[in-house]
Amino acid sequence: MSSRDETDPSGVLSHARKAGLSDSIIETIARCSEFHTYPAPGLLMGIFMVERALAELGASPGEKLFAVAETKKCLPDALQVIAHCTIGNNRLRVLHAGRFAITMNRPSLESSAEAVRVFLDEERMKVLPVYYAWFMHDPGFDKRTMTGQLFDEILQGTRDCLQVERVRVRVTQRTGWDAGRCSCCGELVPDNLLVDGTCALCRDEPYYDPIA
Ligand SMILES: [Zn+2]
Repeated sequence: MSSRDETDPSGVLSHARKAGLSDSIIETIARCSEFHTYPAPGLLMGIFMVERALAELGASPGEKLFAVAETKKCLPDALQVIAHCTIGNNRLRVLHAGRFAITMNRPSLESSAEAVRVFLDEERMKVLPVYYAWFMHDPGFDKRTMTGQLFDEILQGTRDCLQVERVRVRVTQRTGWDAGRCSCCGELVPDNLLVDGTCALCRDEPYYDPIA
């Protein structure tokens, strides 16, 4: 099977069946892959991480939760699809720390909330050679020939590689705001996002240039 076939969702689903995963987790893999546009290895790992965090919290399906992804790679999409902690509903915070870890917690009216943090145990990953080589960005990992083995190791082994710790996350309570206007661009912006009267885009490097 070529690597092209391996990254096809149906290819990964057959690996998942071979790994003896439940129908429910296979269905989750299909939904997450569709959202992400393909079944990335990190996404598959993220699915097991989110499932573990939900189990540790004893969360019921559809429960309102908050999450942090410590990397912008893959993990945010598993959180959005499975736990509905999304960027748009403001229940997902994405940190650009590059740490492959998530934290999940219930809503809290206090300044902090008890949370579950799920991350990877490097020593346990070393038992899975292809998985570890891929994760370490090892030049010995050959995408063309090792992707099938990588998926098998992820689907069979990720759960054994997970570590869980109980932490307290800082919670920022919502603050009220009034309509405001940026003194530089003149666009409407909530006043609590203005600094010295200007919006973040006017304070920062512009990300677009107008076409005359
Ligand atoms: Zn502005």
